[in-house]
Amino acid sequence: MSRLLIENGTVLTINDRHDIFDSGCVLIEDDRILYVGPRSGLPEQVDADRMDATGKAVMPGLVNCHTHLCMIFGRTLATDVDLLTWLDRQMPVMAAMDDAAMLHAQLLGCVENLKNGNTTVVENLFAARTDTFSPETLAFEAMRQAGLRGMVARAFEARHFDPAFAETPAEQTRRVTALARDWHGADNGRLRLAIGPLLPWAVDESMLRHTRALANDLGLPLHMHVAESQEFNRVIARHYGRPVRNVELLHETGCLGPDVQAVGVSDLSAHEIELLVDSGTSVVLDPQTRLFWGTGFPSLKPFLDAGVTCGLATNGPAANCGQDLFESMKYACATAKTAVGDPSVLPARRALRMATIEGARALGISHQTGSLEVGKRADVITLDLRQPHLTPASNLDACLVFSARGADVRDVIVDGSVRMRDRRLTFIDETALLTRCNDLANACLERVAHRQSDSRPSVSREIS
Ligand SMILES: [Zn+2]
Repeated sequence: MSRLLIENGTVLTINDRHDIFDSGCVLIEDDRILYVGPRSGLPEQVDADRMDATGKAVMPGLVNCHTHLCMIFGRTLATDVDLLTWLDRQMPVMAAMDDAAMLHAQLLGCVENLKNGNTTVVENLFAARTDTFSPETLAFEAMRQAGLRGMVARAFEARHFDPAFAETPAEQTRRVTALARDWHGADNGRLRLAIGPLLPWAVDESMLRHTRALANDLGLPLHMHVAESQEFNRVIARHYGRPVRNVELLHETGCLGPDVQAVGVSDLSAHEIELLVDSGTSVVLDPQTRLFWGTGFPSLKPFLDAGVTCGLATNGPAANCGQDLFESMKYACATAKTAVGDPSVLPARRALRMATIEGARALGISHQTGSLEVGKRADVITLDLRQPHLTPASNLDACLVFSARGADVRDVIVDGSVRMRDRRLTFIDETALLTRCNDLANACLERVAHRQSDSRPSVSREIS
């Protein structure tokens, strides 16, 4: 049995009462939280290792509900093009990845998330399909090494896509079944598997139904990009040959429900929002990445008014160019205000909850993480408040949402295990990892440069 006492910090619980304890403490035993509250609530002598949090905020680890760590080697490539052209530029880099590149890309992404205070991460993984190695297994291996609470949301593509990435429903079933057996619920329940098509025009109705049936058989959540832009809905109507919108299509094929996370959701009708509410489907919002592509952004007010569970995400490092969920909170507020001309529409406190407990609820793991409460898994971060840009922190919620950055995170604990202490990672030589990743990324880019550009498949050409 191991015990760790985090003491003298400002403890932000994110419980239902949103309790904040000045000079509070968190006592962790093994993987669980044993006590949260004022120091006076514990005996004077506590047999535990100590972590002094003087001058720091102590809060739940953040929940990053959607990213693509598999694309991290494409960071800063194609920063000034539209979404589909961006995808065309990124896919050759991904197709050039071997098993070493995929493993190290995933590790780099896990490290970047941990250093930003994200203790839970959903990796929406798509990759060139091969039977020589499993990209999903490498993603899980990286999460295991980093000690993250992670979900690999395995994307399925079948048509209008680079053939190297496509697979048949039978291949999907075979690979997903093996992955679920090996990884879903592994490592003390920390690792989970989800499935779903990467893009709705990469499949057809029967494949959507097949994916839903497979998810039901194996007890897996569904995780998908949904209505990312107006163009997205136009492409769907063209592909399916009728004026069907994305959420309507998911409703018809049984792909909505409380086990579904719909990502992006920038172009929804009022009827589609009703379908989300009636089915208990959660949404995942990545406002700064919407702004990056210039595809428009969702007006959050209809989701808030309708009572939809909203998680926050960074989206992938190749789109966002970062993995800072504090930035997502700030942009969520800014875009929500701008969309309806109402500065009160998304208060800082709600944004903070979206990045923690509400995100955990969207993923179906709020019984494990997302708040500091007795009996929950110990996913805890500390932030140094003694900095010019965080002084004075008169309103702690607003300070964290509008002024804090991921780089302010000092300590990270996941499942009771200290993964970063005073910004030093405990499980890996960070400098060696960065050197190796630069070498592997350069090798991928060199392989891409040797291919003829006109021989590359084009996602945007295929669907036009
Ligand atoms: Zn995405």
